[in-house]
Amino acid sequence: METKLDEIAMRVTPIGNGTVIDHIPAGQALNVLKILGIDKTTEATISVLMNVSSRRSGKKDIVKVEDRELEEDEVNKISLIAPGATINIIRGRRVVEKYTVDMPDLIVGVLRCPNPSCISNTNEPIKSQLLVKSKNPVALRCVYCEQPITEKIADYLI
Ligand code: ZN
Repeated sequence: METKLDEIAMRVTPIGNGTVIDHIPAGQALNVLKILGIDKTTEATISVLMNVSSRRSGKKDIVKVEDRELEEDEVNKISLIAPGATINIIRGRRVVEKYTVDMPDLIVGVLRCPNPSCISNTNEPIKSQLLVKSKNPVALRCVYCEQPITEKIADYLI
């Protein structure tokens, strides 16, 4: 029993190198993993903390990914489902960079338009384009057909 507890404690201590994504809205950690392409086949060391008490927001989720620094497009995707999340880049056990995700004003090729007959959902060589009308709460609108997206953003990730 004691051994197991120690293992868990090791996993939640600060990581040596990698990325800590903090202040994820409670319930969105698994969608963050999805964006990062992390599934049961992943061999990287990942820590997921869900429903952690937060002074700022009540409850939050935290994702720690060892030995990986996120790409800009991954951060942009995270901003869609976790506005206000902070990215901490860790090298040699120190936070070398820390910033809050910022949603772009136009989201290109990341989310599918919910309207099945939208031109961006046909075989035309057109990338989806969603205009950001509001960042928090998130409100998006398709550039082509004006279809809005305001909830379940993760369901529309390409
Ligand atoms: Zn559309």
